[in-house]
Amino acid sequence: GATALDAMSLAIASGAVRIVDLTHTLDPDFPVIILPPEFGQCARFRMEEVSAYDGRGPAWKWHNISCCEHTGTHFDAPIHWISGRDLPNNAVDTIPVERLVAPACVIDCSAGAAANEDFELSVDVIEDWEREHGQIRAGHWVLMRTDWSKRHGAEYLNMREDGAHSPGPNPDAVRLLVERDILGFGTETVGTDAGQGFHFTPPNPAHYLFHGAGKY
Ligand code: MN
Repeated sequence: GATALDAMSLAIASGAVRIVDLTHTLDPDFPVIILPPEFGQCARFRMEEVSAYDGRGPAWKWHNISCCEHTGTHFDAPIHWISGRDLPNNAVDTIPVERLVAPACVIDCSAGAAANEDFELSVDVIEDWEREHGQIRAGHWVLMRTDWSKRHGAEYLNMREDGAHSPGPNPDAVRLLVERDILGFGTETVGTDAGQGFHFTPPNPAHYLFHGAGKY
């Protein structure tokens, strides 16, 4: 009989299971997070042509690239935050790869984010979702859908005098998801916290509380 892996790979090959690419395509203008000026800054994506089927390499095309770890579609390991810096296996080269694959719960906050750019994923929003779909289970990813990835250029960061304005989870929501023992949390915005997330207690609760609990 076919193993689970046979069934999965055949379903992908036949198109019965559709693979969706959720990643952004990077270019030098791709928006990167901007911190207050007293802090170190994330560099923009850079791409330099090495050769393009020419005198520098007649049959091949390639580039040197560089970027900040926090550019575009990226993964925050627990070591990224001070609260997770001493946890075991807290970095991308030590996290067992099998831990990255798990079922995902998608909480659709797109209507709320369209109406309010500072929309908060709250305990109420999570509990509404759970009434419909059942309690979020341990070891699952939780993805906050906002449709923010449809924005381009300056609209994506949405910077004002007082910093970025974009949706994210509030501290009680993060605490509830830690209590649910989720695997990790994903967003469409430039980081996992709201643009104004530094005003929460603790500041940037998704980073502080998730990474402190060993969540991704
Ligand atoms: Mn981060």
